[in-house]
Amino acid sequence: MASIGFLGLGKMGCLMAPHLLQAGHELTVWNRTAAKADTLVRDGATLAANPAQVASAADIVISMLADDAAVLDVYDKSDGLLSTAVEGKLFVDMSTLRPETVRKLAERVGEHGASFMDAPVSGTVGSAKNGQLFVFCGASEQDFERAQPILDIFARRIVHVGDVGQGSLLKLVVNLPLAVYWGSLAEAIAMGKQGGLDLQLMLETIKDSSAALAALPLKVPTILGASGPVAFDVASMQKDLHSMLDTGAEAGVQMRTAEGALATYSAAAESGLGSSDAVAVVEYLIDNATAHKKE
Ligand code: NAP
Repeated sequence: MASIGFLGLGKMGCLMAPHLLQAGHELTVWNRTAAKADTLVRDGATLAANPAQVASAADIVISMLADDAAVLDVYDKSDGLLSTAVEGKLFVDMSTLRPETVRKLAERVGEHGASFMDAPVSGTVGSAKNGQLFVFCGASEQDFERAQPILDIFARRIVHVGDVGQGSLLKLVVNLPLAVYWGSLAEAIAMGKQGGLDLQLMLETIKDSSAALAALPLKVPTILGASGPVAFDVASMQKDLHSMLDTGAEAGVQMRTAEGALATYSAAAESGLGSSDAVAVVEYLIDNATAHKKE
C-alpha cells in the first residue's frame, strides 16, 4: 500500500481517484472546490486543506487539473505543492499541458529534491470510470518504474514515450486530428443541412463510410441533441489548440488547419458554448449558417 495524493476532482479526476482507494492505497485529496471530495472522503480518503498538505502526506502526488495555469498555481501558491518539504517524492501530472510548461516545472521540482513526470491520458470520462485510459509518460526510467504500478490502476495501456515533456507532446499529437475532425465535421454537416440534407442521414452515412472516426458513434446522440453529462468541452479543446499552435510554432511547423479549427472553437465559445461538449461546434455552425448565407 502506498500513500498517494490526488489533486483535481473535475470531470476526469473524480472518476480516477476512487480507483486508488479501491486498490487499497492510502489517499489524500484536494480540490479547489472542496465539496467535490465529499464522496471520496466518505469512502475513506483524507481531505487536505491545501496542496501543501497533500505533498506532506503522500509519497506520490498526482494532479489532474484544467490547464497549465491551474497546474502552476497549485504548485506555486503560498500553500502550494512546493511550499513544503518534498525531497524524495514523485509528482505525476496527468493533465493535458504544453510540453514546455512540463519541462520547466520538472526543473523546479528537481531543485526541491523531488521528481516530476508527465502522464497525460487519451480516453474520456467512460475510460476514466472503467480504469481504461491510455497513458503517455514522459519520465526518467527510474520515475517511470516507480509510477507504473499506480498508473496501471487507471490504464488499459501505458507507454513510456521518453523524457519529461514527451508524454505531453504525444498527447497534443493525438488530440490535434481530433480537434480538426470535429471542426471539419461541423462544416460538412452545416453545408449539407443548408442544402437540404437531413442531419441524422448525414451522420449515419458518415458513420458507415471511410470518413468515420472511432469516436463518432459515441458522439452521434450528442450531435442529434441528446442531453447528458459533458465529457470534453469546447473550452478544453480551445486550450489544447492553443498549446498545439504554440508547440508547432516553437518547432517551426506551419499549422493552418489547426488555426482554422481554433477559430471555429473560439467563435463557438464566444457564443456561450464553452462548457458544452466539443461537438457543439456542429450546432454552432448549423445555427450560424443562415446569417452568412449568400442570397
Ligand atoms: P474539468 O472538469 O474542467 O476539471 C478541472 C479541474 O481543475 C477541477 O478540479 C478544477 O477545480 C481544477 N482547477 C481549475 N482551475 C484551477 C485553479 N486555478 N486552481 C486549482 N484547481 C483548478 O477538467 P477535466 O475534463 O477533468 O480535464 C482535466 C484535464 O484532463 C485537462 O487538462 C483536460 O484537457 C484533460 N483531459 C480531459 C479529458 C476529458 O474527456 N474530459 C480527456 C483527456 C484529458 P474546481 O472543481 O474547483 O473547478
